[in-house]
Amino acid sequence: MNPTVSNSKNIDESRQGEAFYNTDSEVINHGNLKQFYIESYGCSMNFSDSEIVASILSDCQYRPTRDIESADLVLLNTCSIREKAEDTVRQRLRVIDKMKKRRPGMTVGVLGCMAERLKKTLLEEEKLVDLVVGPDAYRDLPNLLGQVDDGDKGINVLLSRDETYADINPVRLESNGVTAFISIMRGCDNMCSFCVVPFTRGRERSRDPFTIVSEATHLFDNGYREITLLGQNVDSYKWIHPETHETYSFAKLLELVALIHPDLRVRFSTSHPKDMLDDVLYIMARYENICSYIHLPIQSGNSRILSLMNRTYDRAWYEDRIRAIRKIVPDCAISSDIIAGFCTETEEEHQDTLSMISWADYSMSYMFKYSERPGTLAARKYTDDIPEEIKQRRLSEIVAMQSEVSLKNLTRDIGHTFKVLIEGDSKKSNLDFKGRSAQNKMIIFPKQPGLKPGDYVQVLIESATSATLMGRIVPN
Ligand code: SF4
Repeated sequence: MNPTVSNSKNIDESRQGEAFYNTDSEVINHGNLKQFYIESYGCSMNFSDSEIVASILSDCQYRPTRDIESADLVLLNTCSIREKAEDTVRQRLRVIDKMKKRRPGMTVGVLGCMAERLKKTLLEEEKLVDLVVGPDAYRDLPNLLGQVDDGDKGINVLLSRDETYADINPVRLESNGVTAFISIMRGCDNMCSFCVVPFTRGRERSRDPFTIVSEATHLFDNGYREITLLGQNVDSYKWIHPETHETYSFAKLLELVALIHPDLRVRFSTSHPKDMLDDVLYIMARYENICSYIHLPIQSGNSRILSLMNRTYDRAWYEDRIRAIRKIVPDCAISSDIIAGFCTETEEEHQDTLSMISWADYSMSYMFKYSERPGTLAARKYTDDIPEEIKQRRLSEIVAMQSEVSLKNLTRDIGHTFKVLIEGDSKKSNLDFKGRSAQNKMIIFPKQPGLKPGDYVQVLIESATSATLMGRIVPN
């Protein structure tokens, strides 16, 4: 999954300034509530977790604030996928340290994958930190905050085999009121040799599908028009009904959610080439509201490197999956994740990755240099032997190739009309709306009176860059 940053500046506007409701819908007076400020780093899973944390805190006399300077509790929900992600958090802690010196009563907490990876070392290395809480221990926050109030440090980094937070109603942060994430499972059973996720998020467990359907229905009834089903590897979603013993696969879950309402768009991320079977593709082809877009990380275009990465598929298998998508969901856009400069990668093997990008015709990709992560299989078995400047040069070539392919891919859309869900104002001008096609391509187009975020429009594409399409609204 791809790293970004967000914070509680963008809380669900509809909840600003009103009294806060806890799960029992009892009104609580604002004034008595302490304030928390949360920053999320890393993948969409972390964003979604921050919304779970916000819900747990709102049930114990906290409310979110936009202003870190006035917060009683400052939380960083962290990522550990690359060294740089952790460095970013350490730099942020330097800034927060200055604030805390000015306001010693402020409580500082580190959540997420970096908390899980470093555990109590983080408390030893970062004296300003009062709380260290792993991704499976958020229910313990009220208790841990009590310990901090008593003058102790709070730490819980226990991983769980069954925690899915299925009964917790997320508080929508970063919300545009139109699109939302729903996590359908936690953890990962794959052991890709470069990846820390299995160590920081634990073993795979799938959430009860009926809680997912009710969360999605609740969102639709409250004006949301698109949900993204989240998991490290959604294709291995599997839930068995405790009484009927009926098995719910990802394809079955996708259909249940698609049947909620034809105006509710359904997306999902992240797929795994090894587990992505045709049944999911046939369900996508059957329901217009399941978006024609698949994020299918390849990581490398070379089979020897894929085996060192322990990705459990080779280039031929991956190509077969792409062909299956092209056959069963012909208008589907595909994106990927790519690592440059993995241990022992040769120039020829790097060329295989470049050729895969153009063959697969990805609409976009997340591209990174290999970053050795402590404790992973690769760190234990292989030497990180590709010099930094070669890693950088290979990454630049991959980025250049992808941007060339993306431009060709998006340019082919010129002259075509797409159904677009209006998400809000364009970043560049509030005379324009932004929204995405079912293929997850961002489209910018002039506003028209009477339209608002959450409406669907038909947009004729008139121009393209490698990242964005531009067009104008045309009649249905
Ligand atoms: S599938 Fe591999 S890369 Fe993805 S989260 Fe699991 S171990 Fe990490």
